[in-house]
Amino acid sequence: MKVSKLFTKTSKNIPAGEIAKNAQLLIRAGFISKVMSGVYIYTPLGLRVIENIKHIIREEMNAIGGQELIMSSLQKKETWDVTGRWDDKVVDMWFKSKLKDGTEVGFAWSHEEAIIEMLKQYIESYKDLPVNVYQIQTKMRNELRSKSGIMRGREFVMKDMYSCSLDADQHDKFYNATIDAYNRVFERLGIANDTYVTFASGGAFTQFSHEFQTICDAGEDVIYLHRGKNIAINEDVMDDENLAKLEIKREELEKVKTAEVGNIFNFGIKKSEETDFTYTNAEGKKQYVYLGSYGIGVTRLMGVIVEKFSDEKGIIWPENISPFQVYLVRIGGEAATSHANEIYKELTENNIEVLYDDRDVHPGQKFADSELIGIPYRVTISDRVLENNTYEFVERKNGQKSQLTHEQLLDKLGRLHKF
Ligand code: ATP
Ligand code: MG
Repeated sequence: MKVSKLFTKTSKNIPAGEIAKNAQLLIRAGFISKVMSGVYIYTPLGLRVIENIKHIIREEMNAIGGQELIMSSLQKKETWDVTGRWDDKVVDMWFKSKLKDGTEVGFAWSHEEAIIEMLKQYIESYKDLPVNVYQIQTKMRNELRSKSGIMRGREFVMKDMYSCSLDADQHDKFYNATIDAYNRVFERLGIANDTYVTFASGGAFTQFSHEFQTICDAGEDVIYLHRGKNIAINEDVMDDENLAKLEIKREELEKVKTAEVGNIFNFGIKKSEETDFTYTNAEGKKQYVYLGSYGIGVTRLMGVIVEKFSDEKGIIWPENISPFQVYLVRIGGEAATSHANEIYKELTENNIEVLYDDRDVHPGQKFADSELIGIPYRVTISDRVLENNTYEFVERKNGQKSQLTHEQLLDKLGRLHKF
């Protein structure tokens, strides 16, 4: 991609009314555009990041047997009446509207009830189980507060997975496999070291649910960490009884601010009882399906990553989700230009994703933009470096510079395997 062809532009100015660092940087660098508080457009650069995050999540969900689908965004009242969750007094973040004939519809803020309603049409016997489905889709929530940029949207992308199992044993195996899969996702996204599986409030069936909390100053949650035992507990459920249960002492814990990047719920048969979701076992007897639900905040993750990986110059994308692998800068006259054009072609043909700054602007602006946009590696081709038959190679994360020959450059970039 050529920078001259990107319709988005970088900006030095902090966008008015935007207090979150993630949104400020993403807007300034041209990854998102703000529609209103909590509602953002993902421009071509931003979409590439989202797609990279989705790719990683998809691979890991498929690897544990998840089947991808897409549920509808418009939902029926009846779907939610079953559990009483259509009521605005029970769920306070519904966006609702009406069809022309007056029929009420809701914009999906979750798909739990909708998934169950759909799967009930297909699951009849024990032979039909287990089933694990997931989707990556936009959710709508009329959130009260929305000051965290893309970390709390009124419209945001979530991966939600649902598991249907025969019994507690099958259910537990999948639940634990999902924890492992989530850990792999966060590892590949570069935030595993700061992400903790956290005991959180559980709901009706289990005492605890598990949240995946990433240490982040801009996060809205507080957890307590026992680094030695690798145990984390949400402040919401931190009391003497739970501490005793987890065999940890209050004074051994460290208080940290975090952002919830994912959470998983074990519904057991509670939700199946509510919705009459059953199958017949080998003896022809009706049994309730064991259910689990598993979320990851895709756009929130993008925000958390920007919060964690940025400096005063801009964003520093982890390699795996950067919109491009290399930022190519050309400086100087005809020789440099034609050489840069060739290198751009050669790298692109080798499946290296290059953002090529082919604009006729001051070199300082190119460098500043490359740092703001945050591509991990920058290659500069100028008349001066060409005299020595080398290119300048700079790492965004530490500013380290080196001079590479053509062969060294291809070797280095060829080893950058995406994902
Ligand atoms: P939170 O506690 O942050 O309000 P939640 O517990 O309501 O989130 P879920 O409904 O389980 O979250 O959603 C699954 C995941 O989706 C969350 O772990 C979070 O990463 C993400 N998420 C939830 N709400 C938002 C939002 N308004 N904007 C962006 N991401 C969100
Ligand atoms: Mg939560």
